[in-house]
Amino acid sequence: TQFTDLGLAEPILRALKDEGYDTPTPIQARAIPSLLEGRDILGIAQTGTGKTAAFALPILNRLISGGTKAPPKAARVLIMAPTRELAAQIGDSFRTYGRHAKITVAVVVGGVSHSGQIRALSRGVDVLVATPGRLLDHVEGGTARLDHCEVVVLDEADHMLDLGFVLPIRKILSKVPSRRQSLFFSATMPREIATLAGEMLRDPVQVEV
Ligand code: AMP
Repeated sequence: TQFTDLGLAEPILRALKDEGYDTPTPIQARAIPSLLEGRDILGIAQTGTGKTAAFALPILNRLISGGTKAPPKAARVLIMAPTRELAAQIGDSFRTYGRHAKITVAVVVGGVSHSGQIRALSRGVDVLVATPGRLLDHVEGGTARLDHCEVVVLDEADHMLDLGFVLPIRKILSKVPSRRQSLFFSATMPREIATLAGEMLRDPVQVEV
């Protein structure tokens, strides 16, 4: 399989060509078709397998294909990551693969001032990449709203558990519409993580690499 066989929109194929990527990695080849159909996914995969593009490409495809712009403070897609560094990398990936499309991306993490983040969220964004604690601050403070999220991604879920983020994640998920596409990635599946996946996902495709 090549990327050109997967049915991705032309601006995405052009960005992949810019990067010199022709062939999907195993997780990309297995996840992208189901994600393009709108299925939920449980991905058991480590970093380095190409999992970021496995979720970013079908999400970008959905954004390019239509739908309505998010209202002020809202996001169409929410990605939760455990660390600032991972959130920044995911934001960069969306900007890279979305560079030939008009996609707005905001990265909202702890340890930096709220004011720039409030400004970035104020007009609404296509993709919001966030760490759970800071995102919950914005939701509870009224500077972010999750009621327009069409897609939610939880990345490195087992690492989230280690950092004590399960409660904030549950609070955040309770604010996202139940009619949505949900993506869940973890390198390992301890019981608490399997429980969280069961709560978050609806009839998921399971991909293990
Ligand atoms: P990730 O597992 O998402 O952290 O990705 C690992 C690395 O592989 C990143 O540097 C990506 O840019 C790169 N990568 C992702 N997909 C592909 C691909 N299909 N071909 C070549 N490199 C890729």
